[in-house]
Amino acid sequence: MKTEASQLIESLISRAEGELADIFSRIDQNEIIRTRQILDVFRSHAVSYRHFAPSSGYGYDDIGRDTLEKIYADIFHTEAALMRPQIASGTAALSLTLFGLTRPGDHLISATGTPYDTLTGIIGTGAVPPPGSLKEQGRSYTEIPLREDGKIDTAAVEAAIRPETTLIIAQRSRGYAWRKSLMPEDFQELADRIHQSHPGILLMVDNCYGEFVREKEPTDFGADLCVGSLIKNPGGGIAPTGGYVVGPEKSVERIAWRLTAPGLGRELGSYAASYRPYYQGLFMAPHTTAQALKTAILTARVLEGLGCEASPGSAEPRADIIQAVKLHQPERLVAFCQGIQTASPVDSMALPEPWAMPGYEDPVVMAAGTFVAGASIELSADGPMREPYTVYMQGALTYAHGRIALAEALNRMHAGGTMKLPGDE
Ligand SMILES: *Cc1c(COP(=O)(O)O)cnc(C)c1O
Repeated sequence: MKTEASQLIESLISRAEGELADIFSRIDQNEIIRTRQILDVFRSHAVSYRHFAPSSGYGYDDIGRDTLEKIYADIFHTEAALMRPQIASGTAALSLTLFGLTRPGDHLISATGTPYDTLTGIIGTGAVPPPGSLKEQGRSYTEIPLREDGKIDTAAVEAAIRPETTLIIAQRSRGYAWRKSLMPEDFQELADRIHQSHPGILLMVDNCYGEFVREKEPTDFGADLCVGSLIKNPGGGIAPTGGYVVGPEKSVERIAWRLTAPGLGRELGSYAASYRPYYQGLFMAPHTTAQALKTAILTARVLEGLGCEASPGSAEPRADIIQAVKLHQPERLVAFCQGIQTASPVDSMALPEPWAMPGYEDPVVMAAGTFVAGASIELSADGPMREPYTVYMQGALTYAHGRIALAEALNRMHAGGTMKLPGDE
């Protein structure tokens, strides 16, 4: 009986793979383009073993760190970059950026509606803003929702600009919302408008989950700054921790002053371990991102075939690595996550159950069996326990693993009696 289900699932997956051949081949093409770009930048900086060496103390003239930052700037086509293990997460990179680029009295605008959950603490929205938030420290804030068609409402953002507006923030990824992610080119119109009529106002894009998915990045389409996490795409599954900011020299310097000290900035900061994982991770990033994309697309296609709605749909162009699927039943959501967890290389013996997480309205079920704790470029899945029981899945270091884990998740849903397969009965 069990073998029978496994065979059904295997044939569903291989059929989907066959149908996806053209889409997968476009992902391979993009991987080649981005790998060549990175390779060219590595060559132009003559990367060599000496760049991997650890440093100590103040870290003055740390060539591994300084070269990595030049490489990041080159890849994003910006003047400068801050790329540090000392930046604790993507949220920490965003916090440094928002505090670094605004002063008390300044006004900032979110051009893509309510930002990712962890930003509510930084900005100080929400019922009880934490001490030290931007709002507590004298910044005002306006949120402009995305248009009905999912794009930025440039006119509304422009209308919200005040004399004291200094920063506009925008988020490329859907995060954990049922909306379309934005393409790098989707920032062009807003960037052009503010640069023409309001020089001095900066556009920062939260680029989390978007890096290397397309041929170009938002900074290639007018965004002044991009910010992200190194335990997502650009760390390639290899970087152990950290965050990055790329942008104009003067902005990056101000942000670095927040990280270390005004006047010292990027000159300070040693790292007692090797920088090799940062170089190697970046070099691997287009490949790892491609593995995650293929896993997401395969998952979408197979679940669509079983009557679920996927966003993005399996044939839609992608701007990030997140896959959302409405599973419609609480037992399915839990079984899916449990299947992903038991098919993980780490903590396969854990069985995720929904739990009340601080900061979330409903219990959340989460699967993550990752080498780097919390790394979501590695295969992970989670969802809030509420209608329509949407699972958000992202990552996979290898497509083979993504494929195996998907089969296991389907098997678990089927065994629990919540997911019928064609050919059942
Ligand atoms: C993950 C993420 C963040 C925060 O990054 P952490 O590393 O988890 O702090 C911010 N914005 C978006 C869109 C993200 O996906």
